[in-house]
Amino acid sequence: MRRVYFDHSATTPVNPLVAEEMYKFLTGENFGNPTSQHYFGLIARRAVEEAREKVAGVISADPNEVIFTSGGTESDNMAIQGVAQTNRDRGNHIITCAVEHHAVLNTVKALGKQGFTTTILPVDHYGMVDVDQLAESITDKTILITIMHANNEVGTIMPIREIGKLAKQKGIIFHTDAVQSFGKVPFTVDELGVDLLSISGHKLYGPKGIGALYIRRGTRLRQTLFHGGAQEKLRRAGTENVPGIVGLGKAAELAGSDMEQENKKMTDLRDKLIDGVLSSFKKVRLTGHPLIRLPNHVSFCFEYIEGESMLLSLDMKGIAASSGSACTSGSLEPSHVLLAMGIPPEIAHGSLRLTLGSGNTEEDVDYFLEAIGPIVERLRSISPFSEEENFDTDAGCSECRISQSCKG
Ligand code: PLP
Repeated sequence: MRRVYFDHSATTPVNPLVAEEMYKFLTGENFGNPTSQHYFGLIARRAVEEAREKVAGVISADPNEVIFTSGGTESDNMAIQGVAQTNRDRGNHIITCAVEHHAVLNTVKALGKQGFTTTILPVDHYGMVDVDQLAESITDKTILITIMHANNEVGTIMPIREIGKLAKQKGIIFHTDAVQSFGKVPFTVDELGVDLLSISGHKLYGPKGIGALYIRRGTRLRQTLFHGGAQEKLRRAGTENVPGIVGLGKAAELAGSDMEQENKKMTDLRDKLIDGVLSSFKKVRLTGHPLIRLPNHVSFCFEYIEGESMLLSLDMKGIAASSGSACTSGSLEPSHVLLAMGIPPEIAHGSLRLTLGSGNTEEDVDYFLEAIGPIVERLRSISPFSEEENFDTDAGCSECRISQSCKG
């Protein structure tokens, strides 16, 4: 059976060039502990530092401002908990938004239970925060703003540059979760104006279980999560995951060098998918911003269909997609992101996320577009609600490509 993988926001396959590089650090003479004071240790240390340079290079940071972690979740926790604990003498207010990944949202909520005051900003129907509203929520106790760069469920890219300027003006530490955007859209940490930025290896053709946190020099952030050795300049105790770090370094290097070309290819495939679906069906809406979104990200809500049923049917055709994020799919609750965007729960249940990657082709998109028609037709035919509706009544809005529901 043909297999089409459209779930790259959940995870990506490891690039063979990355795997090759990692293999070298699992075998031969390269297995050393980077803190060891001998030949083997030195080789490992050098590899870790080269990887640090490569990751820093993609975002024009100083390598000394990058530390390695076990992934996006740890980076988010380290940034948020670290700033909160270190800056408690200055204030106790943290600002985030309703569509963050749970790695951010649950960390902020946990701090709320520990006596911090939290503001969880709403978003508009594109999943975007309003910078003026954010400005109004700042108090003299605000110590941290954490707003994601690109949303994992709907692909919307947030106005990070504007928030960065605001945070700088007010002297507030600014963290962004760039797990979905790092290596996919070009930016530097100075352009964004961020103090802290989270990265994960397995979203960019690197291995799972490795990530990085950019920490701008001078940011008040003490060592936080683990007590132990002096690795990563006292910021992250524990023997370094050398093969993982080398893999992340290689993946970052490849992403950085291919970004423009890859971006164009992804955008073309993305737009073909979006146009194909919106022109084929009634009662389907594109979720997230139609234009200010990740180049590889497509997400819809189909009315009168359960997302889970659609996923199973697609899987039987060899197509891997997701409904909501990998972490929330499997739960019967509709996605917190879609609900925060004002999508009614019964419609949010019909969500479908298709996230493209470097291995995808136009033929994959054609295959999907052929497969999805009969699936939607069959699932709607068994829906108790669909008979009441005439699917031919509303052509949707050509301007923003949000079918049916758009009010302009
Ligand atoms: N932040 C975002 C936006 C994500 O999409 C994810 C994973 O899906 C994470 C954080 C967590 O990253 P990791 O899986 O590396 O812990």
